[in-house]
Amino acid sequence: MEGRLNTTGYSQEMDEEIEIKLRPSSFDQYIGQDKVKENMQVFVQAALGRGETLDHVLLYGQPGLGKTTLSSIIAGAMGAQLKITTGPAIERPGDIAATLNDLNEGDFLFIDEIHRLNRTVEEMLYSAMEDFVFDIIIGKGPGAKSIRLELPRFTLIGATTRIGLLTAPLRDRFGVVHHLEPYSVSDLQKIIIRSAAVLDVEIEPSGAEEIARRARGTPRIVNRLLKRVRDFAQVQYDGIITENVARASLDKLEIDRLGLDTVDKKILLAIIEKFGGGPVGLDTLAASIDEEAGTLEDVAEPYLLQLGFIQRTPRGRTATRLAYTHLGVPCLQ
Ligand code: ADP
Repeated sequence: MEGRLNTTGYSQEMDEEIEIKLRPSSFDQYIGQDKVKENMQVFVQAALGRGETLDHVLLYGQPGLGKTTLSSIIAGAMGAQLKITTGPAIERPGDIAATLNDLNEGDFLFIDEIHRLNRTVEEMLYSAMEDFVFDIIIGKGPGAKSIRLELPRFTLIGATTRIGLLTAPLRDRFGVVHHLEPYSVSDLQKIIIRSAAVLDVEIEPSGAEEIARRARGTPRIVNRLLKRVRDFAQVQYDGIITENVARASLDKLEIDRLGLDTVDKKILLAIIEKFGGGPVGLDTLAASIDEEAGTLEDVAEPYLLQLGFIQRTPRGRTATRLAYTHLGVPCLQ
């Protein structure tokens, strides 16, 4: 197969193909998040029963928890199309006008990272969400004219990792707001077993549990680890993912028993060794390990906070005693 090769030797296309196969396409296949799923199924059924479009939905939670997947399941259950875009991709008023103009009656528009919409674009969305109209200003200065466009009724699904960065007027325009939580080990184990069946790889329940325990509550991570463990199982063992194969492979990938990887450890060691345990500001910390502050805050930090390894204080991040213990570094405080 042609295409760019990533570090694992798979082509980008092959990985994308696998990704599509692994993505659940119905509520039944979507594991965990029972409360959210149950509520959404009621709202979908009610809207279908009334012959109406679904109210706008806001989903928030860390990356990889299944916001996009759930959105496409919801649209599918409504028998509708889902158009996907992201906040940063809609830069100018013309972009949002084109996106909305492209919608048909009953379509779903999914905006990922909706907290990153710029203010002008966001304000233009208000009337589109509330009254399904859209005002375009033509010309400049005193001669400028406003033209009102009628839009088909559509459902906006906004996804964000940072609900706190959403303005109140935008948040209030969503009729349904749901928080996706990190998954339990047993839910992640079910996801792995389903994914292994899709990938046609043999796995023992204890092997699935070992991977689940190191996947920091996240389906995207669990699937990624499964793909890599499968490689080790195929090349260095007899193809079956047992507990031992999973453990040995994850050790080789430098993912420890709590799911911390080399970046997490770099963060903790930087706080401890370079900044005396903290507090240290996010930007300084990110620069010291050559990572982006945004990635650090969205991807690594939530899990370290969840484990109680770091604390956020008004003066910056500090490492806790638990972090010292986990890393085996003596705590002198
Ligand atoms: P997000 O939009 O929150 O970043 P995605 O919807 O892209 O996350 O999910 C990442 C991957 O994890 C998906 O491709 C899918 O295969 C898997 N996944 C997510 N949620 C579930 C779930 N509840 N059950 C099974 N697999 C899931």
